[in-house]
Amino acid sequence: MVVTRGDAPMPVDIAALSAAQIRAGIIAGRFSAHDVADAAYAVIATRDTDIHAFLELTPSLAYAAAERVDAAKEAGEELPSLAGVPVAFKDNMNQVGTKTTCGSKMLANYDSLFTATAVERMVDAGALPLGKLNMDEFAFGSSTETSFFGPTHNPWDLERVPGGSSGGSAAAVAGGLATITLGSDTGGSIRQPASFCGIVGYKPTYGLVSRYGIVAFGSSLDQVGPFGKTVEDVALATNALVGRDERDCTSQDCGTDFTANLHAGVRGMRIGVVTSMNDAPGVQPEVVAALHEAVENLKGLGAEVVEVDLPHITAAMSAYYVIGPCEAFSNLSRFDSVRYGYREPGCELLSSQESLSRAVGFGEEAKRRILLGSYLLSSGPYEEYYVPAQKVRTLITRDFVRAFGSVDVIISPTSPRAAFKFGEISDPATMYLSDLFTIAINIAGNGGMSLPVGLGRDTGLPVSVQLIGPQFRDENIFQAAAALETCYRIEHVAPMARPGAVSRVVEPVMTIGSPTPPATMKGGE
Ligand code: GLN
Repeated sequence: MVVTRGDAPMPVDIAALSAAQIRAGIIAGRFSAHDVADAAYAVIATRDTDIHAFLELTPSLAYAAAERVDAAKEAGEELPSLAGVPVAFKDNMNQVGTKTTCGSKMLANYDSLFTATAVERMVDAGALPLGKLNMDEFAFGSSTETSFFGPTHNPWDLERVPGGSSGGSAAAVAGGLATITLGSDTGGSIRQPASFCGIVGYKPTYGLVSRYGIVAFGSSLDQVGPFGKTVEDVALATNALVGRDERDCTSQDCGTDFTANLHAGVRGMRIGVVTSMNDAPGVQPEVVAALHEAVENLKGLGAEVVEVDLPHITAAMSAYYVIGPCEAFSNLSRFDSVRYGYREPGCELLSSQESLSRAVGFGEEAKRRILLGSYLLSSGPYEEYYVPAQKVRTLITRDFVRAFGSVDVIISPTSPRAAFKFGEISDPATMYLSDLFTIAINIAGNGGMSLPVGLGRDTGLPVSVQLIGPQFRDENIFQAAAALETCYRIEHVAPMARPGAVSRVVEPVMTIGSPTPPATMKGGE
């Protein structure tokens, strides 16, 4: 679709088009994949100065992909499922021709030596890789404020955080800069930023998507997943992403077409509500109101809503902040300034080089997790905290298995509140509560999706619900989400990304570390 304003033909409007519409537009000859790349980079140039979603742009990779799509179209071949769709990746995903910084000084100059399977599969499906996206350092955080390269701004209100840790991935879609992005989710880092930015974000069941090539945070919790404006876009991306990969022994074949049930409706589906969880202290009234409305909408569509009990769910946060830091401590030990990572100059001894480089290369939150993990894995605390946390994990996993014996999907809020302002939450323990509703799903390994359900009645900012499915039955989530989505007329891109919107410039209010301007990071060109 060539969008016109008055007489002047406008470039392809990335914010207005879905992935399927972009592919259809190329097939119909309305525009080329090259035009799509031009349009994406044009909006990034004007709007990302305000948002700061991208850490690196990779035009040579995107235009090479566009050329492949346009040549295939010219040759009359059938175009792959994401042909010409502009995408971008969280900067903890290795991709040859780019840096993979993890938002950290530690990896600020790290050139990817290989390509993550998830990235490879998106590109194989015909997508145009625009660049790499900002994130909380090593994916620790819920606001993207801990990036060494400075924060990302929420396109709905530039004075607010986009959520985290995949804040760049959420803001890029909500800001109309890319159609689909990938993030990683260890405790909520896809679903919570999707909620803050008013878009769809999905964490697949652990094992559906290969983690090969993703810089690990908590290996038993991490999953890669897509962000998009609509459930259909996210389903198309998921189809491209899933499946066994020899290089990740936890990955599995699933053989599911996630677009198959999008129009099946919810008549006869059983939806579970966990009352004890939804009424937890600190959950904002507008979030509870939006959840109740979504439940009523599902009933109206013919679903049966039943109460389910997850008796151990209140212990999920405690278990996560034991297991997560232990795995992070172990994973981050590879950044020793010898094999990987920042090296502090002028050290005479190897031992002081390692400790000084880590002291300078890691930010505050990363150090907090490393110290916590090293303490928890020492002999006394191991018995006292780590072993019980693993037992709690088993109990929570069983709770979900039992609950899914009687329901097809569970619904909850995604986040206890809408997007907060920069600097508003400075206490780490309060920040950790951002993932109150998302963490248990990583602990149990199930799939979960954040779906926007309008603007909060008090803040006027996007609020969302989370739909959780039984392990490896993620098609249930897509079926319920697609039905619920029809109840809302949601502007999935922020006002600033709508036609005719004018970009406004604000001063960054919070900058962590001494940021290197992203313009200096030009891999892939
Ligand atoms: N906010 C959570 C944390 O800081 C989750 C992060 C994530 O999912 N990567 O650990």
